[in-house]
Order: sequence, then structure tokens, then C-alpha cells
Amino acid sequence: MTPEPKVVLKPGREKSLRHRHPWVFSGAVDRVEGEPAPGSTVVVTAHDGAFLARAAYNAQSQIRARVWSFDPKENVDEAFVRRRLADSIARRAIVRPGSDGQRLVHGESDGLPGLVADRYGDTAVVQILSAGAERWRELWGPALVAAAGVKAVFERSDAEVRTLEGLPPRVGPLVGAAPATVRIEEDGIAYEIDVAGGQKTGFYLDQRDNRALAATLAKDADVLNAFCYTGGFSLSALAGGARHVASIDTSAEALALARRNMAANGLDEARAEWVEADVFAHLRKLRDQGKHYGLVILDPPKFAPTERHVEKAARAYKDINLWAMKLLAPGGHLLTFSCSGAVSPDLFGKIVAGAAADARVDLQVRRHLGPGLDHPVSVHFPEGEYLKGLWLQAS
Ligand code: SAH
Repeated sequence: MTPEPKVVLKPGREKSLRHRHPWVFSGAVDRVEGEPAPGSTVVVTAHDGAFLARAAYNAQSQIRARVWSFDPKENVDEAFVRRRLADSIARRAIVRPGSDGQRLVHGESDGLPGLVADRYGDTAVVQILSAGAERWRELWGPALVAAAGVKAVFERSDAEVRTLEGLPPRVGPLVGAAPATVRIEEDGIAYEIDVAGGQKTGFYLDQRDNRALAATLAKDADVLNAFCYTGGFSLSALAGGARHVASIDTSAEALALARRNMAANGLDEARAEWVEADVFAHLRKLRDQGKHYGLVILDPPKFAPTERHVEKAARAYKDINLWAMKLLAPGGHLLTFSCSGAVSPDLFGKIVAGAAADARVDLQVRRHLGPGLDHPVSVHFPEGEYLKGLWLQAS
């Protein structure tokens, strides 16, 4: 039997793996023994040869290896991968009812590095985002049908991060025909989802609980929903009895689908305004117009795709938060989010506090916010806590 290819770390660089963090960065690697193909399984050892983990290797990525298992006795074969998937789906038995949309697999946090799968009714949409997950590509479709009981599986492996892994973008059906449209119902609101052309897997399931909170806070309020995409928070606010909801996004397609969703739910169009604009510029414009809102929602895209972008991202987060705060009516609420894994909850809190100081507004944290129960986070993988938010209230 040929020996398993090996990745030997530099002295002292085994610490993060001993703490069960699942990534080996290129700078930590002393040498590679054997010739592992992209995505194939390697044994990672400390400099002294001690076993640390089995991981998926990728010479193309700064994340040189992603850990499958820290157990020296565990082999990474088809049975192992299927077991991990089944465990991940079994974990979703605990849910808040009210939606037939659900994240089934949450990457590293579910022990499946680089794999994301969302269920929309009978359809699952997968993102294969690492060479290791790509290695098992043939398996995900049938395995999701078997474990989750979906009828169709559609692949949306066209996220930016694929290029960082040296993988080409790929979009298309894995099982069944490409679904024309997919619908889910979440807390009584129906959403049409564009799984082939929408962002990510088509819908932001992670904001489910926060949309429900927005519905509560929106009653009788003038609401501003910045970065509205297909109108998730906007429809929740309308359904919750908002007086008026203004929604901003740069994507004309997203706004068109948001309008269709509003009409399909029989919500009063007269209470809604959809603005195709850049949020950074538009917030300033609203301020110049002397506008004030009882509820502002800021759910921007990922400003920091990696660690390197954190400083620039921090400035962008501060800017939109500062201007949003200036738009709050007395007693008004701000739901503000960051979905950058590289921006910690602690840093986000500091950015927001800095914005409040510069805006000269007094705010209280009413609650720390995050994704729903279908987005577990591994205690060893803080990056998995990508979505963090604050519910703030002005004095
Ligand atoms: N809150 C949404 C998800 C938001 S995703 C939901 O719950 O479904 C982020 C959105 O920001 C995307 O729709 C994207 O088109 C939009 N966007 C990105 N940059 C923008 C900008 N500068 N101004 C306005 N919208 C922007």
C-alpha cells in the first residue's frame, strides 16, 4: 500500500489544529510528502511527526488543507462523507417551525468544509466551495436526496471564493431538472426564489428570526430597509403593520422579484417604495431631506471577504451605520448586521459604538442577533459565526 500523502507543519505551527481549528494556512506548511491531487486526503502532522488530522489538500489555496477529522482512526471515504451529511441533516431536527426553507449543511461548522446546502421545499441548492468538497462532488446530489428527502438538487458553485480555491464556477442541476421557480413560505409569507440566478443559493435563510423581529418592531412605523435584496425584511415589516416601508438595493432584478413577492402576498403596494440606488449615497440623501424612521435595517453584503479586507470593511460598516443612526426617530430601532466571517462580533460592536459616537446619538443594545437554529457554529471555528447583528434603540 502506498503511504498516505503527508503535510508536515513548521515547528510550533500545530497549535491551531490542536485547538481543533479546521484550517491549515500555506505559511504553516514545512513540506509536503507525496503528490496529493487537489482535494485529496492528506495526513497533517506536527514537525515531530505527531498525527494532527486528516484533511483535504489544495495547493492552489492559501488555505492549504481543510480538516475532515482529528481522529487518527477515522478514514475519509464515501461512508465517512455520507455519515457527516446525515449527521448534519439530523441536527436540523431542532428547528423553529414556520418555514419550509432550511440550511441543511453549514460548511466547516457541520464538519463538511466548503459545503453549503439549503433546502427550499423539495429542492436543495448546494454550493461546493473547496477542493475537498469538490472531490466528492458526484456524491452530494444522491446523498442529499437520500438523507434530506428532497426531489431535486441544484448546484450554485459560482461564489467568488471558488476562484481562491482554483476552481471554475459551475451552475446547473445535479439531480432532477433545473427548477423554474421555487417557492417557500416563511412565517406566513410566501417567497419566490430564483435558485439559478439569485444571489448565493437564491435566498438568505439566515435572517429568518431577524425578519420576524423586524415584523414586531415595524408596527405603525416608517421603515427603511437598506440592502433589501428580494424584500425579505420589507415584506415582514409590511406584514407586521408598518405605516410605510422604503427599500433600497442596487440590483434591479432583486427589486423586481421583491415587488412580485409583495403582490403575491396581497400586501398593500401603496405602503411600499422600492428604490434602485447605492445605499452609501442614498442614506446621505435621505438625511438631507430630513427623513426619520422608526425602524432602520442594514443588512449589507459581505464587505470583508477575507482577513485582508477587514480594515476597509470596518470603514464601510462605520459609514452606513453612522448615517443610519442619524436617520433614527426618537426611540427608533436599528437592526444592523455584518455577514463577514473575518469581522468578529466584538469588532462589529466596536465599529457600531464608534459610529454612534460620531453620529452623536445615544443607543442601547436591546439584543445581540445571529442566524437561526439551522446555522450551528463550531466552537472551534469562530469564522462560522459569520452573521452577527445588533438590535439597537435610540433614546
Ligand atoms: N436583507 C436581505 C439580504 C441582503 S444581501 C434579505 O434578508 O434577503 C445584500 C444586498 O445588498 C444584495 O441584494 C445586493 O444587491 C445589495 N447591495 C450591494 N451593494 C449595495 C450598495 N452599495 N447599495 C445598495 N445595495 C447594495
